Amino acid sequence: MERELDAELRGAFDRVFARSWYIKGEENKSFEEAFAAYHGVEHCVGVGNGLDALMLALKSLGIGEGDEVIVPSNTYIATALAVTYVGAKPVFVEPNIRTFNIDPSRIEAAVTEKTKAIIPVHLYGQPCDMDPIMEIARKRELRVVEDCAQAHGARYKGQLVGTFGDAAGFSFYPGKNLGALGDAGAVLTNDKELAKKIRALGNYGSDYKYHHIYQGNNSRLDEIQAAFLSAKLPHLDRMNAERRRIAKRYLAEIQHLDVILPTVPDYAEPVWHIFAVRCSSRDALEKHMNDHGIMTNKHYPIPMHLQECYRDLAFQKGDFPIAEEISQTELSLPMFYGMTEEEIQFVIDSINGLVK
Ligand SMILES: *Cc1c(COP(=O)(O)O)cnc(C)c1O
Repeated sequence: MERELDAELRGAFDRVFARSWYIKGEENKSFEEAFAAYHGVEHCVGVGNGLDALMLALKSLGIGEGDEVIVPSNTYIATALAVTYVGAKPVFVEPNIRTFNIDPSRIEAAVTEKTKAIIPVHLYGQPCDMDPIMEIARKRELRVVEDCAQAHGARYKGQLVGTFGDAAGFSFYPGKNLGALGDAGAVLTNDKELAKKIRALGNYGSDYKYHHIYQGNNSRLDEIQAAFLSAKLPHLDRMNAERRRIAKRYLAEIQHLDVILPTVPDYAEPVWHIFAVRCSSRDALEKHMNDHGIMTNKHYPIPMHLQECYRDLAFQKGDFPIAEEISQTELSLPMFYGMTEEEIQFVIDSINGLVK
């Protein structure tokens, strides 16, 4: 993708370089406007990365020490880290094993009087089942911060993810569906006051120069990354369509008794950040594919509750069996923009056992 946009990306760099203005300028402003407009949302605040986007969103909502936040038990560590960074406690809720996303029917049992928010993660580019999640949030007066780091452009019942909750965090890490050429992130919200607070929190807690209302940190989207992102955003839907084309072939043509393909519910228009299959003999399948020169991945081999950094939470093996099952059986197939028909066919043949 970067090669194909060579001229646009170099042009973006030249524009910033000519202006010699690198932090908080025109590029940040115009990307924020474009990203907000793409979503039909009022405000976008560019930040340093996806973890900060989630962390600043939680902080702006006043979530911190003594609070609990519900997160899926099988997400990438950044979701939980955002919660623990603000001093709150992550409460893990198991996913639906077919969609890999948080199971709404298990959320209420995890709500206590300390619960302040839910972070639905649109994992692998699949939208969460948002209607029941928003219903529980309304009923229990909880905030909703969507983790959209893997789901730029995904839709739930026709509506873009990132437009449901109080705020949404995005990552533009290079490998994401919309990636910068370095670290970058953004928060979306329709709440003007929240947007103002997030912007200040990421800029030393400052609302105007040398005036500090919060003990903020430094997390800003720099001009060069914003310019690159503005060059790539108009191509997002096309890049996602490419991933859908690959996914469609995998779904139609992979046929192996031991391989369970991902389920796409009627409400979902996923963007396939990751194409995740499950296989009881995952490691053997992985070796078979790697032996044929096919790169695969595991998302993620160790669930959060068993991570060393969270030993304080005192969880044990068996506490979240679905997350553990996914960690032991999930295999991510090649999925990238520019994959050729031959490459797709080779992956399919390799799994189906035709390539020995
Ligand atoms: C990538 C990712 C993040 C964090 O984004 P960074 O830009 O790497 O900080 C958060 N949540 C999920 C689900 C991610 O995949």
